[in-house]
This record gives sequence, C-alpha cells and structure tokens, in this order.
Amino acid sequence: MEQTPVAHVLIFPFPAQGHVNSMLKLAELLCFSGLYVTFLNTKHYHKRLLRFTDAETRFESFPKFRFQTITDGLPDDHSRSVSYIKDLITGIESVQPAFRELMISNNLNSDNWPPVTCTIIDGLIAFFMDVSKELGIPSISFRTTSACYLWSCFCYQNLTEAGEFPFADNDMDKLISCVPGMQGFLRRRDLPSFYRIKELNDPFLKLAVTQTINSTRASATILNTFEDLEGPILSEMRPHFPKIYTLGPLHAHLSSRRTNSFAPSDSSNSLWEVDRSCMTWLDSQPLKSVVYVSFGSIALMTRNEMLEFWHGLVNSGKRFLWVIRPDSVKDNDQKSQIPTELTEGTKDRGYMVGWCPQEQVLVHPAVGGFLTHSGWNSTLESIIAGLPMVCWPVMGDQQINSRFVSQVWKIGLDMKDVCDRLTVEKMVNDLMENKRDELARSMDEISQMAKKSVSEGGTSWCNLEELIEDIKSMKL
Ligand code: UDP
Repeated sequence: MEQTPVAHVLIFPFPAQGHVNSMLKLAELLCFSGLYVTFLNTKHYHKRLLRFTDAETRFESFPKFRFQTITDGLPDDHSRSVSYIKDLITGIESVQPAFRELMISNNLNSDNWPPVTCTIIDGLIAFFMDVSKELGIPSISFRTTSACYLWSCFCYQNLTEAGEFPFADNDMDKLISCVPGMQGFLRRRDLPSFYRIKELNDPFLKLAVTQTINSTRASATILNTFEDLEGPILSEMRPHFPKIYTLGPLHAHLSSRRTNSFAPSDSSNSLWEVDRSCMTWLDSQPLKSVVYVSFGSIALMTRNEMLEFWHGLVNSGKRFLWVIRPDSVKDNDQKSQIPTELTEGTKDRGYMVGWCPQEQVLVHPAVGGFLTHSGWNSTLESIIAGLPMVCWPVMGDQQINSRFVSQVWKIGLDMKDVCDRLTVEKMVNDLMENKRDELARSMDEISQMAKKSVSEGGTSWCNLEELIEDIKSMKL
C-alpha cells in the first residue's frame, strides 16, 4: 500500500523585516499542527534575528522546527544599510543555484528529517518556485502584502493597454478606470509607488509585476488578510490566481491559537534592539492621549520632512511617541543626522525611541491614534488594536493601502504626497479630536471582524485548517 509521506514544509521569506516577521508567524502556526517546518533565513538576517530576539528559544519547544541559512547573494562586506533593498533584489536572484543545492543535498534529509514535501516561497522571490517545481515539490506562494496591492500589480497589463500607465505627474488625481473593483476611488497617486516612474525597466516595477504574475504559477497562494476586509478584491482575483487561503491578520491568528486571546506576546521578530523604556513612559500618560508615530523598517525621509512632522506634532499640542530609526534620514551627510530640535526640544510631551515593541504600544491604553507609513503589517496591527490612523505612505504598497484605509474602510485619514507642518497639525487634531468618534466607529466594526476571522470557526481559522490538510495530502 502506498504510504503518505510525512509532511515537511520549507518556508523561504524575502529577507526584510515585514516579510520574515509574518512568515515566522505562519511557521509557528504550522508548528502547532505538528508539521515538520524548515525556515530558511539568509545568513545576515539570521544573525540579527538571533541577536535581537528570542526566536531561537521560542522555537525550541517545537522539535519538528528548524532554522537553516543561505546567502543573500551580497558580498560579506556589504554595508547592508537600510537602503540596500535595491542591491538585495538583484543579489538574491543569484542565490538560485545555492537554493537548488540546498534542496537536493542531504542537508534536508539528514538527522532523521523527512524530505521536503512542500515549499512556501515569498511571492516577491517567486523565481525560487522554479527550483521547487523542477524537483517535483509543490510550491505555495506567500504574499506579505494586501490583496488590493497584489491586484493592482497584476493589472499592469490592463493599465498599459488602456494607456493609463505610464502617466505624467501633472494630474495625479485623475481616476484609474481599468483596475476592476477599484473604479471610482483609485487615483493615479494611489497606485503602488513604482507606477510613478517613467522608466519601464525600473527594477522595483519589474520585480513587483513579474513576480506577481509568476507567483500565479504556484499551487496555491497564502495572503495575510481576511475575507471581511478585502472580499470584493479577492473575488476579482480568484479567477486569475491559484487557490487563495486568507489567513490573516497573522499576528492575531497566532495569539489566538497560542493563548486564546489577542494580547500581543513579549516576543518579537525585530531586526533592531527594542527599547522598552517607552512602555514606562506610556504608563504615565492619560488615557488615549498619545499619537504613536512610526514609518516602519525601510522608509526614509529627508531632514526637512522630519522637521515638518516634528513641528506639526508639537503644534498640535498632542503627546506623541515617535520611532526614529537611527538610519531613517535620507541624505547621509553630517547635516542630515536627526535634527537636534527633535532630540532635545521635545521635553515632556514627546518621547523618542529607535525601535519599540510596536504590537504592545498599539494596544497600550494611553495610545489614541497611529501616524503610520501604511505598511501592511502596521495596518493590520492597528486594525487589531482598534486604533484609527493618519497615513503618510512612502513607497511600494503603502500608497494603495492608505487609499483603502481612508476611502474604503474609513478607518483613517490619508495625507499622501503632502508633508508640511500645518497639514500634520490638522491631521493629528482630526485623528485625536475632530474626527475621532466617526473613525473609531468604523474601526471598531472592522476590528471586531478581524478578531472574528482568526477565532475558532472564523474564515482565517478555517482556511488555516484547510491549508494544513491540503499540505498533508500533497504528494511528491
Ligand atoms: N515594528 C516594530 N517596532 C517599531 C517599528 C515597527 O516592531 O518600532 C514592526 C511592526 O510591528 C511591523 C513591522 O515592524 O510588524 C513593519 O512592517 P510593515 O509591513 O508595517 O512596514 P515595513 O517595515 O515593511 O515598511
């Protein structure tokens, strides 16, 4: 009688904070179901993960889990500063032979580990799926972004054929008519940022579009979203994509399975040292009085933009907690270091850290709003925390996420493409006072739906069960 192989999943994320963070959460969820899981990290990222997090000890309780590492394709002495993503995109393509070798080497079958029966590959590096397929191993694509972003990348052909891309900068408010499901509210300025370029050979554009199209060749797609949030867009996508499992919000899904609650744990998957002193500062602030400000792990801003935000925040009269990564100023000369006004002039109403435990900050009772770059993880974390947002998107998926936040879900305000102190002040006051109640009402509704989706019997919960059964039945 033919024996079903023991299910062993290899997970390979693109090495950036938001990607590794959510794919590690998926790994942990799969571990609960007893699958064998190998998590493939790049050597550079893995070193930082071990340095700044408890990931190694956290996973010790899962004997069927292991980390493995691979090069990221860049020379060892590369600075890997925050702006290295462009180099990484080219570098990582050259890692395919090493990946192939790793997959076929005894490495994966040693120490009594069964052979890999399925790979879950970050859709941003979908070309690694070719190796998996060549070896006869089914491959699932995991996208760490919103469905609305993916769909807008997939519709690249529609945009070009309709003459809606490329476009000149002079009418950024013109509506886009050829992305199904987004007619009537999607403007040029809301398209993913790489659509703003004029050069069709742009590496970000190429990567985003080709990898989105390539990832439709997978056996299935996993998305960190939930049906009640992006249902209409998912319906547009389903005829063009392999089976889509929506499992999100993954961080809440994990808390729900771990502890049957939505309280964030003390663990993190951070690439930076977490400064917990801000939690003590928050403890001494009045209820819902603080604006939390963070632009994620990659976005850069100019010194001038930083000053405009600072003046706007100070002039709003509100308290604020601001994450300023040491490498977040765009121009790297001496003058462009974090302005001293920010570090010395903030006094008691403001608090700054280099990196914070964001999931915990967002649910702290003193925090009343989130000034965010609209990264997808931050958006989902804000939804679970029930915290309305002001969005200042910088790049990639952030432009379209912020449009959905403000116009479709109505859980935040969008200040894209504007950065002056008067606007910042007005937006912050609207968030914390003038529009607070209406935003809170819609946020509360969406937040409840998100929690329901990852609770027993909810859509994301059931989809995970189905995914696990499907993985178990996969044959080599
Ligand atoms: N984050 C954090 N501490 C910080 C700032 C961010 O832990 O001080 C985490 C945040 O919780 C989120 C991730 O970093 O999970 C950022 O991901 P997102 O998709 O929002 O943005 P990206 O960094 O990819 O632009």
